[in-house]
Amino acid sequence: MTQETKNSILIIGGGLIGLSIAYEFARNNFKVLVLSKNRNESAGFVAAGMLATHAEGLEDELLKFGQESQSLIPKWIKSIEQDSSIECGLKKCGIVVPFKNKKDLEEFPTYEYGKYLNQKKLQTEIHGINSIWKHGLLFEQDGQIDNRRRLMRALERACSLNGVEFHEGSEVKDLTLEENKLIGAKVLCATGELKKIYCEKAILCSGAWSKKIFNKIPVFPVKGQMLSIQGPTNFLKRVIFGPKTYLVPRDDGLIVVGATVEKDSKFTQGNTPNGIKELQEGICSLLPEAVNWPQMEHWWGFRPCTPDFQPIIGKSEIENLFLATGHYRNGVLFSAITSNLLFKLVQKTSLKKTEKIFLEKFSLDRFKT
Ligand SMILES: Cc1cc2nc3c(=O)[nH]c(=O)nc-3n(C[C@H](O)[C@H](O)[C@H](O)COP(=O)(O)OP(=O)(O)OC[C@H]3O[C@@H](n4cnc5c(N)ncnc54)[C@H](O)[C@@H]3O)c2cc1C
Repeated sequence: MTQETKNSILIIGGGLIGLSIAYEFARNNFKVLVLSKNRNESAGFVAAGMLATHAEGLEDELLKFGQESQSLIPKWIKSIEQDSSIECGLKKCGIVVPFKNKKDLEEFPTYEYGKYLNQKKLQTEIHGINSIWKHGLLFEQDGQIDNRRRLMRALERACSLNGVEFHEGSEVKDLTLEENKLIGAKVLCATGELKKIYCEKAILCSGAWSKKIFNKIPVFPVKGQMLSIQGPTNFLKRVIFGPKTYLVPRDDGLIVVGATVEKDSKFTQGNTPNGIKELQEGICSLLPEAVNWPQMEHWWGFRPCTPDFQPIIGKSEIENLFLATGHYRNGVLFSAITSNLLFKLVQKTSLKKTEKIFLEKFSLDRFKT
């Protein structure tokens, strides 16, 4: 077993959350090392990129967390874009949630934040929408970012140009403790070597796989299958967020269609005939003519879910090991605030009242029995 020198911050997991946090520390002059088992499996490359605080119907602290993150995103993305020279496709395009009846509309948790659309206005907003939808809520404050093709790459580049070191193909097999202090990790490298990496502080951001490293984290995978279709440019201007399926239009007419929610999937790889069928039926239920638009790609990934569907952010019971995982359906939306909060927590910067509440609410301690 070989040894490496100390690193100020060790990031375990080079997915969306890991890269976001790595960037935050690196741009503040920290020495950062990212250990990444496999960048391609990261949910950051799978997500639809919706910034859907209100369209997702988030409630209570999670709603505030989303709103706060959404307010940080424009400045945060601008910084990533400047550092990487890659434009990320951030758009406040608005998201429309359609309803079949008024009761469902009025019971929607974020009803008060939306603009009511009657059927005529709904059809004006979404040309060609299926006539089964009688009402709609337009959340003009919600939007999207092109995480799959742009943000992930921009983060990688911005991190790298700010001095972050990456070890791709490096799987953390175990954490090395001395009493209750983390001193490093045992890592299986892409070359097959088993190495010990020492660290001063580490942040565990291994998404759906987090429990494999630290089994007190109750995170499990929820598989999502996706596909994309090529539509005419500018046909769809807003995201449509149906109860089972959503359509997210990119600038070049590509429409990202998601997603299945497979709670018992474990880590089963691949698209399935049923998954693709479900998405096709979903397209038909929202925008019938889009069923005939050519399908460009199928893919899948694993959302990091927790028993209460809320993230785990903050300290762990191990001194100098911090946690940022379990972002489930909204990791793209929550990435800005998560990286900001983790930086402040590790740095022991004084926190605002709302930030303290978030850390309390999203602490791992809530699962202690
Ligand atoms: C189908 C689907 C659609 C989604 N749509 C949206 C959306 O529209 N909007 C939104 O906000 N969110 C969305 N999400 C959620 C979002 O993608 C996730 O919440 C977010 O990507 C989680 O980021 P993460 O870094 O925690 O995990 P990931 O991005 O999955 O990264 C985890 C990384 O850790 C690495 N890793 C795992 N184990 C180890 C180990 N032992 N050693 C080293 N590295 C390790 C993995 O290889 C992986 O690269 C969606 C997710 C899915 C699956």
